[in-house]
Amino acid sequence: MPRPPDTRAPDNPWPQWPRVYKMDYGQEEAAARFGADPRTYQISTTKFVGDEHGHVKELHTVKVNMKFKDGRMTFEPIPGTEEVWPAQLVLLAMGFRGPEDFLIEQLGVARDARSNVAAEHGKFRTSVEGIFAAGDMRRGQSLVVWAINEGRGAAREVDRWLMGETSLP
Ligand SMILES: Cc1cc2nc3c(=O)[nH]c(=O)nc-3n(C[C@H](O)[C@H](O)[C@H](O)COP(=O)(O)OP(=O)(O)OC[C@H]3O[C@@H](n4cnc5c(N)ncnc54)[C@H](O)[C@@H]3O)c2cc1C
Repeated sequence: MPRPPDTRAPDNPWPQWPRVYKMDYGQEEAAARFGADPRTYQISTTKFVGDEHGHVKELHTVKVNMKFKDGRMTFEPIPGTEEVWPAQLVLLAMGFRGPEDFLIEQLGVARDARSNVAAEHGKFRTSVEGIFAAGDMRRGQSLVVWAINEGRGAAREVDRWLMGETSLP
């Protein structure tokens, strides 16, 4: 992702959540120790390379440009920006960027503009009859309490769909 701006962008006014550059205390500590913000922006790992024992020894990266294509975020590699980084340990710390395509494409259910499965809260019905969606897959990255709430709600709506009525809360 690109580095966020220092102040709110015109398309991100109050009272929206401010999408601005922030330094967490761990990043401050790293910057104090190593002299710079430890984060690298607009970069994508293309592969990990291991040694003859199968232990990771390097990762290969390329810089990327973020583009919106058909309402979805895509990342285009920038030719000539490939780099190789020595590494003995790799920790993956990744946020949720949308549900996996595999099941959604096989089922042929419609998505919303954020790539989640389109299904109204309270009904949980997708665009395909008999397929229901709940939790992160429906609402995007969220909380366990919502996953529980939506799981119960989806169970109720499946029951209603199967039986014609439901006594589930
Ligand atoms: C790093 C991290 C930290 C978080 N911390 C918190 C926190 O502190 N508090 C909080 O409330 N929330 C937190 N969350 C969010 C919370 O974990 C999610 O909102 C919640 O787990 C969503 O539940 P879900 O049932 O919708 O989806 P998931 O928990 O993602 O469950 C989906 C399940 O479907 C399975 N699956 C996928 N594809 C298939 C398939 N084709 N066939 C069969 N099974 C399949 C997956 O293996 C998975 O078990 C955190 C999330 C992350 C990633």
